[in-house]
Amino acid sequence: MDYLPLFLQLRSQRVVVVGGGRVAVRKVDLLRRSGAHITVVAPELREELHELAAGGAIQHIGAKFAAEHLDREAPVLVIAATDCHEANVAVSTAARERRIPVNVVDDPALSTFIFPAIVDRSPIIVAVSSGGEAPVLARRVREQIESLLPEKLGALARFMGERRKSVQRALGVLARRPFWERIVSGLVGSRVLAGDEVGAEKAFESELRTSHLTTSPGTGRNGLGEVYLIGAGPGDPDLLTLRALQLLQQADVVLYDRLVPAAVLERSRRDAERIFVGKEAGDHSVQDRIHELLVHHAGKGLRVARLKGGDPFVFGRGGEEIEVLTRHGIPYISVPGITAALGASSYAGIPLTHRRLAQSVTFVAGHVLEDDLLDWRALAGSRQTVVFYMGVSHLDRIVAKLRDAGAGADRPAAIVERATLPEQRTLRGTLETIAAIAHEAKVTAPALLIVGDVTAFNATELLHSDAACQGGSMSHGAFV
Ligand code: SAH
Repeated sequence: MDYLPLFLQLRSQRVVVVGGGRVAVRKVDLLRRSGAHITVVAPELREELHELAAGGAIQHIGAKFAAEHLDREAPVLVIAATDCHEANVAVSTAARERRIPVNVVDDPALSTFIFPAIVDRSPIIVAVSSGGEAPVLARRVREQIESLLPEKLGALARFMGERRKSVQRALGVLARRPFWERIVSGLVGSRVLAGDEVGAEKAFESELRTSHLTTSPGTGRNGLGEVYLIGAGPGDPDLLTLRALQLLQQADVVLYDRLVPAAVLERSRRDAERIFVGKEAGDHSVQDRIHELLVHHAGKGLRVARLKGGDPFVFGRGGEEIEVLTRHGIPYISVPGITAALGASSYAGIPLTHRRLAQSVTFVAGHVLEDDLLDWRALAGSRQTVVFYMGVSHLDRIVAKLRDAGAGADRPAAIVERATLPEQRTLRGTLETIAAIAHEAKVTAPALLIVGDVTAFNATELLHSDAACQGGSMSHGAFV
């Protein structure tokens, strides 16, 4: 280890920054967050620093650096942020002679300490360093950590800090650590991270009351399990939300659907139990089994991730599942996902609405034609986009219904198969041709049928012909 990481208490301590330019501004910013008293030594200051000095937020010595400045200010740290090498050498030498830690920005050789890249979820702070060897790599690592840590991590640390004393009073030394483990990895933690401090407080009280009944952290806790209803998006794992990732990493059990690809499942905890609950459309007994599994595992005190393709509340029966959870008093957190229509639209370059082409968009379940409750007349209207989910095996009937209700044969339509996945295919046509095109191409589920003028939209063609969208100059039926 070339450098020892330390966290320095700088509140009300004097720090000297030499230089008044852009780099100095950044360092002053950072130092102010730590509560340091700052003296900037520079003949001239940038506007931002000038304002701070005028407002008394920092001290300013309007001169070239001289070693006496250090004697006068007696700082605990010195930072050289000038763009002049000789000046930086002079600062470094003077500081080292006086045994004051010094950092010369971007020059580890002249420095006795270096600044790490920081993830700030105060009071939780992560510092990353490459020892000056590869700052860009250190920043990349920082970004990766940043995306893993919940936004409200600091709030959780404060929540725990505020209750430390009362836990010390209530619990013996040996019981405290497992207690805090349960707080962090259980209901209390996830409530705070979800921004629900009231729910967290309630769960905390209950955890404290029952803490003498349990000893082990992790599985089999005292009945305080919960469910994370997570939208996994349409397939590309990069479309998972940060919260989905965070909760997936916490879950003890993962219940997943047919539409959830392996690459998404991979993001769950290595040791989590993964249970496939894929089902064919309309299979009621499977849905009942899912309800049983949710109640069973959460009832044992486990954290259960219910991972669903797209968004849980768009043709995902998420509503039924939260009914069951509510009935059993099981707390849940729902996490939205990118629904297939949005993923397909984006990856196929088909805007769902467009000022000239479509003023509204409707998502329709295309498999419910048997007990047909749809208002086909409304769906057949122009200047709108209609997206049919679960419709590929009923294409002929959907098209016939739309045509009967008055939609023209030349109404543009497209099919997006396996949207956002590497094998995605987009097929374009019209109401007259699309069913034959799909048949010919052997389209299979999962796929969406999108009906409306937007499916003939082609942004690159617009570059060549302004009238492309109003006219009929599009080539239909092509593979894209
Ligand atoms: N909750 C999901 C929808 C589940 S219904 C969501 O919000 O996306 C299942 C239907 O969704 C499939 O029949 C198909 O029509 C559509 N679908 C899901 N993933 C898809 C994908 N990657 N590409 C195209 N359609 C998809």
